[in-house]
Amino acid sequence: MDAQDVKADLTEVLYTKDEIDAKIRELAAVIDRDYADKDVLLVGVLKGAVMVMADLARALRSHVTMDWMAVSSYGSGTKSSGVVRILKDLDADLMNRHVLIVEDIIDSGLTLSWLKTNLESRGPASLEICTLFRKPDAVKVDIDVKYVGMDIPNKFVVGYGLDFAEKYRNLDCVGILAPHVYQ
Ligand code: 5GP
Ligand code: MG
Ligand code: MG
Repeated sequence: MDAQDVKADLTEVLYTKDEIDAKIRELAAVIDRDYADKDVLLVGVLKGAVMVMADLARALRSHVTMDWMAVSSYGSGTKSSGVVRILKDLDADLMNRHVLIVEDIIDSGLTLSWLKTNLESRGPASLEICTLFRKPDAVKVDIDVKYVGMDIPNKFVVGYGLDFAEKYRNLDCVGILAPHVYQ
């Protein structure tokens, strides 16, 4: 096996590069329409949202600015607890800005729910959320996500920014890891 072939560690590709591209373009068209008369500040959540942000921003026709935040969720095991620590705060002042949080995936929704409350307190003119992927559990959380790319099965996925132990973010598709990788 070629040690450089990251894709060889997947048992299944769920979304190809082309499918992701098409979905990003769909989201961008709706966002362009909704923000036609407003400048939007895209807030990317590091590190997972890097790919979504880069592609979404380039698919938009509107003027945008971009800023980044890094948060870490204190969790026991694999589930996030909803207790969040800011590792890197925004550079931008959100007062009176139209802010759109850009996320890779919402699972429990706890991280984003905390983030939304936190950013809301900074006085933005508007605050919305865009996520490429959403899992079924997230639907149970009382958080209004205006732009959702795809609702996906309740499986652990990697690629297109999403990691396993910091690897696989550079895959251009999204898929399921082969058991031999983590066993
Ligand atoms: P939540 O607070 O919604 O449970 O957690 C959201 C974060 O958990 C995401 O931003 C992402 O970093 C991570 N996460 C949730 N589901 C997955 C997944 O299927 N694969 C990967 N790689 N990360 C995930
Ligand atoms: Mg994320
Ligand atoms: Mg991760």
